[in-house]
Amino acid sequence: MRTSDHSMPRRDFLKVVAAAGFGSLLPAAAETLAPKIPKRPFGKTGVEVPILSLGGMFDIPNNQLILRRCLDWGVTYWDTADCYEGGRSEPGFGRFFEKNPASRKDVFLVTKSCARDIPGMTQLLTRSLERMKTDYIDLYFLHGIGSIDDVTPDMKAWVSNRKKEGKIRFFGFSTHRHMEDCLEGAARLGWIDGIMFSYNFRLMHKDGMKRAVDACEQAGIGLTAMKTQGGGSVKADSEKERALAGRFLETGFTPEQAKLKAVWANPQIACICSQMPNTRILNANIAAALDRTTLDTAEMEALERYARDTASDYCTGCANLCGAAARGAPISDAMRCLMYYRHYSDPVLARAEFARIAPALQLGAASRAAAEAACPNHLPIGALVDEARRLLG
Ligand code: SF4
Repeated sequence: MRTSDHSMPRRDFLKVVAAAGFGSLLPAAAETLAPKIPKRPFGKTGVEVPILSLGGMFDIPNNQLILRRCLDWGVTYWDTADCYEGGRSEPGFGRFFEKNPASRKDVFLVTKSCARDIPGMTQLLTRSLERMKTDYIDLYFLHGIGSIDDVTPDMKAWVSNRKKEGKIRFFGFSTHRHMEDCLEGAARLGWIDGIMFSYNFRLMHKDGMKRAVDACEQAGIGLTAMKTQGGGSVKADSEKERALAGRFLETGFTPEQAKLKAVWANPQIACICSQMPNTRILNANIAAALDRTTLDTAEMEALERYARDTASDYCTGCANLCGAAARGAPISDAMRCLMYYRHYSDPVLARAEFARIAPALQLGAASRAAAEAACPNHLPIGALVDEARRLLG
């Protein structure tokens, strides 16, 4: 059964949805409706964050209006990284804070370090603070770890000292490989404040993922979901996509909004981080966040069915399986590059990431066959690696 807490009347939601198609209506809608994105506690930090956050993996310097719109609607959790947009994302946030210094206190600011050693982290944190024209980072992440061993014991003291200095408030990591192990490892460590990880309608039903999320909840770790659209490395089957779209448009959501709602259905997830590089996507996501109507059982089942039917399109990040079969070749990273290309429509990011991993992506016929045999989702790994080379190399 569909439920709603009626925090926003349905007709108002529809008005906002209408605005989603017309960016120029958004300021008026913000003034008249003036709702703010709902908030949830972020683990045991004592901080509440909006359930929708702005991912900064796009041209922030030239899209300052997006930041203003986010503030208007309460999308006040902003996520970036030292390396996003070739280093241009952080200065984009800095430009905004320089012009709007009073807004800094309203924003929960997250950035990430690609460094894995203490001197490197110190250097990058200093640079991030300078670039973003701020004295502190709310949540500082190690970027994209694939093993909990990347969080070394000496980091605990480093984090404690940076917290004492007031340079960071909270610490954690982001991950899209071996996520379940990383989450459970963080829960065991006991001093990780927050994690950003891939989580969507495909991954949320896996037993291992449920256990990992439960462990983090018990440890008081705040959880931010990313890659919530579950886009894969394979070109989507247009028939299946059309069928899913038809299923949801009948009930008033786009499939993209439905996929967000599937994640928000789990109260253990504090926030969804979404790349929203234009007002069309921003408005549609805001509309979904403001409308408290939940997906009914049939809608959740439709998403699960779609996930099952398209499982071989999606890499679940179990890189130990194909990696072990193919002598450590970064196959899951190659799949992620294709995903950036196909689903984020971001060839620049896809090519930059692919250039980084390409030298290690040497796969002979035997390795290809072994990796494909090891893949639980039956991805056509050999063909996809060739495709990645052709499109991104
Ligand atoms: S085994 Fe398959 S699903 Fe898992 S990381 Fe490798 S390619 Fe992706």
